[in-house]
Amino acid sequence: MNDKPSDTKNQKTLSAEQHRVLNEKGTERAFASPLNDEKREGVYACAACGTQLFTSEHKYDSGSGWPSFYAPIEDSALGQTTDHDIGYARTEVHCAKCGGHMGHVFPDGPKPTGLRFCVNGASLEFKAKD
Ligand code: FE
Repeated sequence: MNDKPSDTKNQKTLSAEQHRVLNEKGTERAFASPLNDEKREGVYACAACGTQLFTSEHKYDSGSGWPSFYAPIEDSALGQTTDHDIGYARTEVHCAKCGGHMGHVFPDGPKPTGLRFCVNGASLEFKAKD
């Protein structure tokens, strides 16, 4: 598993905030991302490398202030690590292709998976369906 993006030279141009989140496992402020309220149909790609990671089909309003999904576009799209950054174990999720940090997954999501992928909007690029 990657602690850091393995191929940062292929990353798109990132804002300072995107770099902090994607490459340094930062967390954006709750309710900071316009993608938290995004309700259109479409696909959410890794903001660093463009790989499609989530779709609107699995997005829901968790009330957390971060874009939330109950599943990724496919299981292989994401990699996982365990972090103890805030004193207890959490499962960190990142883009399997470039290693860019997405957020965390928690076991308190809705059916059918029961999972909540809590994702930084700064890590995502939304492409609305035409
Ligand atoms: Fe990526």
